Amino acid sequence: MAEPTDWKAKHLSSLREMELEERRWRALEQVLRRLVNRLCASAMGIDPRLDTQLAKLADANRRNADVTELGARHDSLSDALKALDSGIGTATMTDLAATIPATRPPPAAAGTSRPAPNLAQVRAAAMKVVERLASIDPADKRIRELTKQLTAVASEAALADVLMRIADLVAELGEDAARERSAAAAVLAQVTERLEEMAVYLGGLNDERRTRLDDAESLNTTVLTQVTTLSTEVHGATDLPSLRALVASRLESVAGQVRDFRAREGQRFVEHSARSEALRDRIVELERESRELNRKLEHERRRSRVDSLTKIANRPAFDERLAEELPRLKRLHTPVTLLLWDIDRFKGINDSYGHRVGDAVLREVATCLAARARTTDLVARYGGEEFGMLLVGTAAGDALALAEELRQSIAGLGFHFKGAPVVVTASCGVTELKESDTAASAFDRADGALYAAKDAGRNRCVTA
Ligand code: GH3
Ligand code: MG
Ligand code: MG
Repeated sequence: MAEPTDWKAKHLSSLREMELEERRWRALEQVLRRLVNRLCASAMGIDPRLDTQLAKLADANRRNADVTELGARHDSLSDALKALDSGIGTATMTDLAATIPATRPPPAAAGTSRPAPNLAQVRAAAMKVVERLASIDPADKRIRELTKQLTAVASEAALADVLMRIADLVAELGEDAARERSAAAAVLAQVTERLEEMAVYLGGLNDERRTRLDDAESLNTTVLTQVTTLSTEVHGATDLPSLRALVASRLESVAGQVRDFRAREGQRFVEHSARSEALRDRIVELERESRELNRKLEHERRRSRVDSLTKIANRPAFDERLAEELPRLKRLHTPVTLLLWDIDRFKGINDSYGHRVGDAVLREVATCLAARARTTDLVARYGGEEFGMLLVGTAAGDALALAEELRQSIAGLGFHFKGAPVVVTASCGVTELKESDTAASAFDRADGALYAAKDAGRNRCVTA
């Protein structure tokens, strides 16, 4: 049987690890926030039309604003940058410039103005942040994707976009770590309490055994003394009546000791029975508590596998299930098809109508995909506007037909914004799992098919 201290040490060490991890996330978040502040400060004064947006972003960042608010600030800044790039909206931008707080230091005089922020330097700093993220989970596809995007960055607007995504990811990973830590802490507290209870009970049993042994030993000694005394006294007896009286008195004394001992044994038996009874009740109660605890842990596990925005499964749930399906395929040879969806030109939806509308689109598309999934299938939000589906018992041909129906359903969802229709379509990569596949090879094949669908003009499904 494992020593209770083994359990305790194991739980304490995993708790410590999680604490360290959470601290790493917090440190990363701080670095990112400082980076955003520095970027804002260095960009100030370059163009008055940007300064209002920069001041608001810096202010939100200093107040530790949440992802939604930072997202909105980032969108406004992107809009302002885009307007600058295309040279439109000068009048509006001029108006915005008039709202810059009076406390802001005036732009530096011509000739002494600060140089434009060096894109390469900022990118190198952001790359360091991403590298630190990658050292925590090298297999995380989102981090690899961010590295790629960061390398390809060619303008301030694109850099700001990638920085926002890095911030989103850090916040999300930090939240995951904090949630796991608090669940583990609750389990640890309960386990510790039970171990202490067990230690008290075992201590009680030991005391009881020791008392019994002491008592039996003292009875032995007493009887032995009586017998020894009797054997000495027998030799001194002069006649039969006195010998008889002597023996009778010694026997009576021994019988008395044995009677007392048996009475104490009886009392101990009663106490022991009562204690056993109480223990049996406690065990029943502990079993009930343990079932309840398992139920809570399972609930917590399931909750950490659900995407908070769309309420369908999230990426860890999808990865876990894909890893389970591959060995099952080898055993049962039942076809499983992987579908990867990506909403077309989603960035444009965010840019034109705002993040909130973008989020609503994500929820509707998730609901649409989930509505057609069978109980053995899995639909998950894999990343920002990407969804993964695992169709169990469905071969590539049927899966493509279903994907086609789903694609048409998405295109027909009929979104509107302030009365005007908003076109939403999605592209899909389809691939049937092979027995020789790893999760990565299957995923890459579906990804390849998805990109072929994008290249072919979007709003279509392609089989790998
Ligand atoms: P493509 O057709 O090539 O897929 O173009 P796209 O614009 O959809 O692709 P891109 O990867 O450039 O843009 C994805 C956008 O999704 C960028 C990002 O800001 C947005 N996004 C990611 N997560 C969320 C989210 O949770 N909510 C909202 N509203 N937008 C998100
Ligand atoms: Mg995408
Ligand atoms: Mg897309």
